[in-house]
Formats: sequence, structure tokens, C-alpha cells
Amino acid sequence: MEYFLTEQQKLVKDIARKIAEERILPVRAELDEKEEFPWAIVKDMAAADLFRVFIPEQYDGLGEGCFALCLTVEELSRACCGVALTYAADALGSLPILLYGSDKQKQEYLPAIAAGTKLAAFGLTESTAGSDAGGIRMTATLEGDEYVLNGTKQFITSGGEAEIYTVIALTDPTRGARGASAFVIDKGTPGFTFGKKEKKLGIRASATRELVFHNCRIPGENMLGREGAGFIVTMKTLDSSRPGVGALAVGLAQGALEAAVAYAKQREQFGHPVSAIQAVQHMLANMAMELEAARALVYAAARTVDSGAKDFTEEGAMAKVFATDMAMKVTTDAVQVFGGVGYMRDYPVEKMMRDAKINQIYEGTNQVLRNVIALELLKRKALRR
Ligand SMILES: Cc1cc2nc3c(=O)[nH]c(=O)nc-3n(C[C@H](O)[C@H](O)[C@H](O)COP(=O)(O)OP(=O)(O)OC[C@H]3O[C@@H](n4cnc5c(N)ncnc54)[C@H](O)[C@@H]3O)c2cc1C
Repeated sequence: MEYFLTEQQKLVKDIARKIAEERILPVRAELDEKEEFPWAIVKDMAAADLFRVFIPEQYDGLGEGCFALCLTVEELSRACCGVALTYAADALGSLPILLYGSDKQKQEYLPAIAAGTKLAAFGLTESTAGSDAGGIRMTATLEGDEYVLNGTKQFITSGGEAEIYTVIALTDPTRGARGASAFVIDKGTPGFTFGKKEKKLGIRASATRELVFHNCRIPGENMLGREGAGFIVTMKTLDSSRPGVGALAVGLAQGALEAAVAYAKQREQFGHPVSAIQAVQHMLANMAMELEAARALVYAAARTVDSGAKDFTEEGAMAKVFATDMAMKVTTDAVQVFGGVGYMRDYPVEKMMRDAKINQIYEGTNQVLRNVIALELLKRKALRR
């Protein structure tokens, strides 16, 4: 399928593919096995200017936006979804600064993110607040011109590894969701430590960890946007980042499809390759069709984000849900095409199937996002298009 990429988009995609094939593919099984954070690859991505892709030019980025970010994520995820997530989560952690930071905050944080010398992470979830993000308990209490942070964030991607954290906390616990505000916090701030490091089913090259705040004092100027706007910051951040989760899924499924096609051509049963069996051919055909439909939807959603449109909640949610459900199915079918060896760690598809699952869960579960899509649909006076 031709997506009419610009020369710059093609270049970014080619660079990401080169890093994926030369640096990620050879070590992905080892990173998964050892649950190791891919610092060496992060450094290569930084040297190749990949972290500049989604940062505006005035802050040392390439200003290529959400679509080029998705192309990059897709190429990285084709080799390893866990490594690709580190890149995508850096963009997620940067978005509150990009969307709501003052020029001073942007000057302070974005050039280091663009250079890839500092990774960013986003902290919303707590043990009491997952789908119901309004249930957060972490507090930010104003004392003089400082905020004092107390609470624990759970399941934070790149927790402990990132240097820059954008976090949502209650500045007025009596007002519920309307009493939440967004902050940017540096690793190393006294009172900010890291708790439990999770051991996961998949994406094991990605770090997932608790952020623990105990009487952590930060300057008042670390607030992003205005007081009480924490959930607006959250919603806009997630709306902008969800096409990126769709891209993680598309890349993952692409890798699984390619592996399944290659194996089906080579594995012989009944005196011929299993690719000659129509039942297998139809599985491959369905995988390819559903993958391409998801890719088109993810690209369209990303281009909508870049268009300057005010509201793309529905587009982002549709792309995320459709692509991640597709990737779960395609990776499961890839294991099926491989037969018994597909279940073994000697081949890459069992890892892909394990990696796929999380994409249906984070950044809004696919059930919650179906609620969101339905809500958008039902509140309209007339159907669009
Ligand atoms: C590996 C990993 C990385 C993560 N990274 C981050 C991160 O970087 N930053 C961050 O802030 N968070 C992160 N998260 C948290 C993630 O976003 C949440 O786990 C997710 O939003 C779901 O919340 P929960 O786990 O509490 O599930 P729950 O909300 O407890 O949901 C349990 C079940 O109930 C369903 N459900 C709940 N409410 C509804 C509803 N209203 N309608 C329909 N179904 C519903 C859910 O779909 C799910 O099936 C991460 C999680 C994981 C596992």
C-alpha cells in the first residue's frame, strides 16, 4: 500500500529500520530473557537523531510530528515492541511539556529530550486509580512557593530509567478530578525514589516501576498548565499519544506476519511446504488484510493529530483499539502458523504474542476506549462524513 511519504518521512523510517535490523534484532531475545533495559540501543537512537523526530524545531527537534513518530515506532516495534515502547513512552512523557509547558519549561526540558540524553516518562496510574483515573490519591500541597508531593504512582513505563517525569497529583483533594494538576519532576529530587520493579509477561526490555514521593519538594514553577487542569492535560496527552500505541501494534504485527510467511514457505508437511495449504494461506491473507487496515487507520489518526485539529479523541481511540486488537490476533495466528515450534523461545513469535497483550491494556483499556468511541458517536447531533 502506498502512503505517499515525504522524503523526510522516508528518511526517518529508513533510519529507524536500520537501527531495528542492525541493533535490535540481534539482541531482542536476550533483552527479553534478561529483562534488560536497552540503554545501548537508546544511545544509538539518540546518535541517529530519532528522539528529535517529535520535538519542534525551536527546541532542537526535527518538528516532524505524530505521523513521523508513528513511522519510527512501527519500524522499531517490527523488531521488538519492548524496545519500541521505551521510545514511544519518551514521547508520552514529553507530551504534557510539549502541549502545556511554558516557553521556559520547554527550553529547560525539550532540548535534552530531543538529544536523547534524557528520557521522559508519564505518571498517572496509582493502585487505586487505573481506568478510573479520577481515583488518584497522590497530593501536591502548596507550601510557600513550593509544592510538597506525597503518594505512589504504579506501573510507570521507563520508571527509574527516565530523568524527566510528568506526573498528575491532587492540588485540591476536595474537588476530585477538578482538583488535579500536572507537574514536571527531575529524577534525583530529594523525596522522589523508585519502588517495585515489575516482572512482566511481555515487553520485558521495557522498565515498569513505581514512583514514590515522600515529602518531595518542587518549585511552584514546575506546574504544567494551570492549577486544576491536570485531567485536561492527561486527556489531551493520551489523545495525542494513542496513535503511537497503534503504531507499536502495527509494527509488532508486521514482524509476526513476515515471520509467519517465511516459516510457512520453508516448513514441509505432507510432501510440500505448509504455505501450499489453503487453510494456512487464508490465515496469512486475513493477517495481511487486517494489518493493512490497521496501518491505514493509525496513519490517518496520526495525520489528524498533525493537522492542528482541535479534537481527535475518537480518531486516536479508534486507531489504538483496532490496531491493538489486530496485533493480538495476528501474533496469535503467527504462533498457529508455526505450529509447535511457534510456542518455543527458539523462534520469535511467542515473544511477539506476549508483547502484543499489553497494548490492549495501557493508555486506556480497549473496553474503556470503546466507551469513549461510543460516547463521541452518541453525543453528535448528526453523523459526520
Ligand atoms: C506494562 C504497563 C505499563 C504501563 N505504563 C504506564 C505509564 O507509563 N503511565 C501510567 O500512568 N500508567 C501506565 N500503565 C497503567 C495502565 O494505563 C493501566 O494499567 C490501565 O489504564 C488499566 O488500569 P488498571 O490496570 O487499574 O485496570 P482496571 O481499571 O482495574 O480494569 C480492570 C478491568 O476492568 C475493565 N474496566 C474498568 N473500568 C471500565 C469501564 N468503565 N468500562 C469497561 N471496562 C472497564 C478494564 O477494561 C479491565 O478489563 C501501565 C500498565 C502496564 C501493565
